[in-house]
Amino acid sequence: MPQLAKYIFGLHDSDGAGMMIAAGKPGWVVVSALARDAGGDFSGLASQGIGVIVRLNNGYGSDGTLPNSSQYDAFAQQCANYVASSRGAKTWIIGNETNLPFERPGNDNGNGGEVITPALYTQCFAKCRAAIKRVPGHADDWVAPAAPAPWNNQTSYPSNPAGDWVQYFKDILTGCIQLQQPPDALALHTYTHGNTPDLITSERKMDAPFQNYHSDFRTYRDFLAVVPAGLKSAPVFITETQAADPTWWRNQNTGWVQAAFKEIDDWNAVATNPPVQALCLFRWQTGDNRWSISDKPAVQDDFRAAMQNEYRTRAPAAQPPLTTTGWCPFATQRPITLNNYDIGRSGQKVKAVVLHIAAGSMAGVFPTFNDPNRLVSAHFCVGKDGTLEQYVSIDDTAYAVGMRYQDGNWYNPRGILVRPSWKGLVPPLNPNLYTISIEHEGQPEDQWTPQMYDANNRLLQWIAKQIKITYVPHQTLIGHFEIDPVDRANCPGPNVKWYQIAADANGAATPGSLLTLIQAVANEVNKLPINTQAALYIFAKANRLGNPQTDEFRFPAQGNQHVGQVFNSGIAYVKVGDWGNVQWVKKPDGSPAPTDPVAAATVAAAQQQTWMPINIYSGFYKFAQAHNLGDPQTDEFDFVVDDSYLGQVYLNGFVYAKKSNLGNIQWVKKMDQ
Ligand SMILES: [Zn+2]
Repeated sequence: MPQLAKYIFGLHDSDGAGMMIAAGKPGWVVVSALARDAGGDFSGLASQGIGVIVRLNNGYGSDGTLPNSSQYDAFAQQCANYVASSRGAKTWIIGNETNLPFERPGNDNGNGGEVITPALYTQCFAKCRAAIKRVPGHADDWVAPAAPAPWNNQTSYPSNPAGDWVQYFKDILTGCIQLQQPPDALALHTYTHGNTPDLITSERKMDAPFQNYHSDFRTYRDFLAVVPAGLKSAPVFITETQAADPTWWRNQNTGWVQAAFKEIDDWNAVATNPPVQALCLFRWQTGDNRWSISDKPAVQDDFRAAMQNEYRTRAPAAQPPLTTTGWCPFATQRPITLNNYDIGRSGQKVKAVVLHIAAGSMAGVFPTFNDPNRLVSAHFCVGKDGTLEQYVSIDDTAYAVGMRYQDGNWYNPRGILVRPSWKGLVPPLNPNLYTISIEHEGQPEDQWTPQMYDANNRLLQWIAKQIKITYVPHQTLIGHFEIDPVDRANCPGPNVKWYQIAADANGAATPGSLLTLIQAVANEVNKLPINTQAALYIFAKANRLGNPQTDEFRFPAQGNQHVGQVFNSGIAYVKVGDWGNVQWVKKPDGSPAPTDPVAAATVAAAQQQTWMPINIYSGFYKFAQAHNLGDPQTDEFDFVVDDSYLGQVYLNGFVYAKKSNLGNIQWVKKMDQ
């Protein structure tokens, strides 16, 4: 890995290094070279702590900064040859301001030539980066795409008709990621319209349609705002900056240079900003009086004054590695652009698998998920013919069921307030963080083919093994409609056989699939917690007050904290700490409240609780007592597995019967027993 220079100071052209070395503030130099030339020996600079950034060009003027696209392979080889024959440099930029007509191959003074669209540029970059990395000793080099010319709108293409230079930059970055040659570093250019220092921090904006973009130095912030998530920690180099049109550099110490370095240091001081590691003044060498610094002692004074400050580079955060785990071995792996998913799950555990309908053919799924402008994805898609594709590792976060939580409500991606029926949501966390999403080819009203059912089943079984999940319909196996009932009411559609799918998928995970699913129902349902060691519980049992109908609850009475609990035949209560002195009071039955103030407060507090109804005459209750299953923890409830059932959870087991045969009551241990 290349080393960062110690300071952010920089100059375009290697002869400028002397100023930084003299000031004891080694920073950066930018060298512009022709790729076909013999390499350069920069080891002398490197040994003095100067970071050398080499910009590799095909040529200047009508030659084009890149060659014609038919010559990209040859150009990539030239770049690799240059790297191989150079010493002391490990950071490379491919081309320059490729959105500028003067940089196009075959242009005649800015007219004609091959337009370098992001699609063409990324092809060239991918070839060059791959060729450079193959050079022995350079596998870890930093290769950066060309810095676009800010404010230049002359390169337009169908998805960017306005020639937006920030969009151009973003399209190049996402394109490189898609070609699996992600940039290792980012190069930017920024200037001011004039040479006064106030332009450095100016918030002045461009005219419409670019009214969101800065018109002076802070244009660098516009570029940094669109860097895709996967490149956020790539080192950023501003490889050209100057006081430009209309005044350009004058031989004056206006404080412009000092303000520029201070601006970058201030930016870097904000921990959430991607640090800018170099700000390189354009340019040292003479030739064009508007640009040169070596002939302007007053500008050098400005630079020397800036170098009085300790403006250090900052180590970039570690690049998140692409996830190699969580890929299903029997699915076709089709990894998508990093723009459409997040690496990792921010520490969340998967708690449900979400089934979707693609509302289209399988062939359309990958292109959609790989389109960096769509910001959508799922982990898998199952085809009608049983083919299985995976786009995102299950260890990563797909963009399938995105929801925003605000002020106690959930909002769907369209910003509509929705009331999800799924109880597993964890406000305010986006459900994408704790779900795995599976798309299915076809339309909501379609019946699943047997091939689709089998492939889906194999996939669910594989997922269950990875994340240790038991599928319970509408709890751990859900439909998109249970998260977004407004815009996704038909996802995945009415013909999905939830209980059969769950029973089959659980079946392979553990023997006795039906019993496992029934156990899972008891596991997922809300139960009254019962502490058989608590003083109130022991008292209630000793005094035949029956089963708990509430958990313990706290309330104040006569200046002291008390604990109460409702049982079938009375409400037990005690002053906190006075555990040996439990008392009880009758439940309210229409007669006057007890006169004892603590007993009255107990009744009042008990009435604030939700009481679980307990029918001690029901068949389930009698069955549970006969089998020593203890206190009920739920009311009786309906559930469906392979058939419709009635169930009730007790302390020591789950009692159930088919609704069609209520005389045949059975019980099963709970999962934790
Ligand atoms: Zn969906």
